Amino acid sequence: MASPNETPKQEKQKPLPATRRNNKLVRSGNTKRILLLVKELEPVSLDTLVQESALTYPTVLGIIKHLEKDSHVEKIAYAPTTGGRQAVLFGICGIVRYVLALHLNGDEVDITITNIRDGKIFHATEAIPAQAAGENQADKHRSIAHRLVPLVGEILKKTRLELSSLVKICVTYPEGTDIDPQLLSDELEAALKVPTSTIADRIVLNFLERRSYHISSLQRYIFILFERELSLSMYRGPCDAAEDLPHRTYFGHMTMDVAGSACTCGKQGCLQSYVSGNGLLQAYRDAAHQLGSTWNTALEQDDDLFHAVLAESYKGDKAARVAIDQAIRMLAVALANVIKIEGIATIVLSGVFNSTDVQFKRLLELYIAEYLPEDFPTAPVVILGTTSPSDCSYGACLMMNAQYFNQLNFE
Ligand SMILES: [Zn+2]
Repeated sequence: MASPNETPKQEKQKPLPATRRNNKLVRSGNTKRILLLVKELEPVSLDTLVQESALTYPTVLGIIKHLEKDSHVEKIAYAPTTGGRQAVLFGICGIVRYVLALHLNGDEVDITITNIRDGKIFHATEAIPAQAAGENQADKHRSIAHRLVPLVGEILKKTRLELSSLVKICVTYPEGTDIDPQLLSDELEAALKVPTSTIADRIVLNFLERRSYHISSLQRYIFILFERELSLSMYRGPCDAAEDLPHRTYFGHMTMDVAGSACTCGKQGCLQSYVSGNGLLQAYRDAAHQLGSTWNTALEQDDDLFHAVLAESYKGDKAARVAIDQAIRMLAVALANVIKIEGIATIVLSGVFNSTDVQFKRLLELYIAEYLPEDFPTAPVVILGTTSPSDCSYGACLMMNAQYFNQLNFE
């Protein structure tokens, strides 16, 4: 007999629309969960998926069949026999879906294609032909896009891929250049009919650095990319994927001295100028003058001034050493300011310094400590990253793949 508390009548009623929607949400959520489990555990058997997902065998089987039909997963191997039947192992479908990333770097473009399983299938560096002089900004972007479109076509032909196999294209770019990435990606998307996004190289390289153990274990840090331009991002934990700095804020153009040396951006006294521009050159000249030494005038033509002066200092040029020391001091002042505001004293430095520059890493740590208040709770730590802008297009592919799986919707 039914107790008065039970409500058998309601069970016979049709599910409410909200319930139906819920069921649908649960189904699509389960599908995505299984797909992500396959990605994480591949090659993986149905039994393992059942264990890991805590769903029933028939549910998992149904989802896998569905995912197989839509070319999201495929049978990739058989488990070793254990006497009984051989279990089929599933993995993410390696064909059908690809991503292509372009890294614009001055007159060159770096191109990588990977499949959705992060497998690199193509990489090349090509020259972007020079554009006609006197073009206005909009024409210039149209012209870069128009020169990139046939390049992408040629590469697809070489790799025997169709445009329709590309799920996404990403353009990565160094900040501080006069390229308007949005305009460029709009042009590319219109011409190639593939969803195209843009992203600053520092964000891509931060993503790539986080795949290494010693960085991924950090909860919070400041990420600096110092190649030709200095750019900075903040990392405040795994949920903080969003871009926190305004689109056109380059750390490198933080003003250090309103009446200082001219910068390429048109302002005066930018950090950029002191670490890799006129300010550095001026410091080098002044030091040479004071030391009574001659200085290498050929450096003035170098578009990568920091490295050029650094190389000079390694050769024993004392004035170059003084200049580099000042550049590091300027970087330390700027970083100490950011650290004071953010309260984060761990800095991942990528690009300009590498493992041979340990002495500069130490100097930077020392100088930052000098510019921090005495009662600042933690000592500054600089960690040298291992990525370089040549990894950008590959890193962007990995980012697009991760986004692809996160954004899949099975409703
Ligand atoms: Zn500037």
